[in-house]
Amino acid sequence: MDYQGLLYEVMDEALRGGHAHGRVADYIPALAEADPAQFGMAIATVDGEVYGAGDWEQPFSIQSVSKLFSLTLTMAEGGEGLWRRVGREPSGNPYNSLVQLESEHGIPRNPFINAGAIVVTDRLLELTGDAGGAVRDFLRVESRNAALEVDETVAASEALHGNRNAALAHFIASYGNLHNPVDAVLRHYYAHCALAASCGDLARAGLFLARHGIRVDGSRLLTRSEAKRVNAVLLTCGTYDAAGQFAFRVGLPGKSGVGGGILAVLPGRGSVCVWSPPLDATGNSVLGVAALDALTTATGWSIF
Ligand code: GLN
Repeated sequence: MDYQGLLYEVMDEALRGGHAHGRVADYIPALAEADPAQFGMAIATVDGEVYGAGDWEQPFSIQSVSKLFSLTLTMAEGGEGLWRRVGREPSGNPYNSLVQLESEHGIPRNPFINAGAIVVTDRLLELTGDAGGAVRDFLRVESRNAALEVDETVAASEALHGNRNAALAHFIASYGNLHNPVDAVLRHYYAHCALAASCGDLARAGLFLARHGIRVDGSRLLTRSEAKRVNAVLLTCGTYDAAGQFAFRVGLPGKSGVGGGILAVLPGRGSVCVWSPPLDATGNSVLGVAALDALTTATGWSIF
């Protein structure tokens, strides 16, 4: 397979479709400074090969892509107990929605909407004492990039403009579903969201899911069954209220973030990360989804 040629081809095809309707996220002011023209894509295979095109080595704010890693580490460290505190159904609502939390008694619908990720971060903080550091260290090892770091400007900007997330966290806490102080949980949540990594870093770091739970050093992080479950929740909830559309167009488990990144997994084969900052109304990268659509259409790669 000519992966390099494939990347050029699918990025060209996505660009031909245009991205004029996308908008760079600005509710976190530090994210609004991203150059909308940047576009990168990388594929990492289970054989250890990495291919990239465009701005694939440029670090960007991974935002909610980090929720894939916080969930994984929480499952690896803490087992099944998490599922008493967070559900695993698609929400059908935007990632930052408050509406279901009251009728569902402070148990967020799934670990990838903000409410659910806040509960996951709380659990990871209980388990490790440093949830933000645990995600950063895991990414450093799996991506083989020891320089991978939190962008403190983004983290500070998120905290300063974090009324919505603070409301979610306090509301969850009112039902007894946070075990650490709200401020500490949010600090760690912003720390992992504000990690800066490139498409190449994230494609490498996602490979443990393609390897059914095996880390870069060959050790087992998740059981095969747990890895399958993470992929299942990625497919049904990883792109929020557009998860159906993403499954329809792309057909792979994937996680998006408002920094414009999307990490998708083809179990047994590899992982692919794409980055372009302009987002659609559901918070997913317009060009990112288009490029993944073109990739899976051209190759037949899909879990279906
Ligand atoms: N840190 C962002 C927030 O909490 C993550 C949102 C996202 O990427 N969907 O709003």
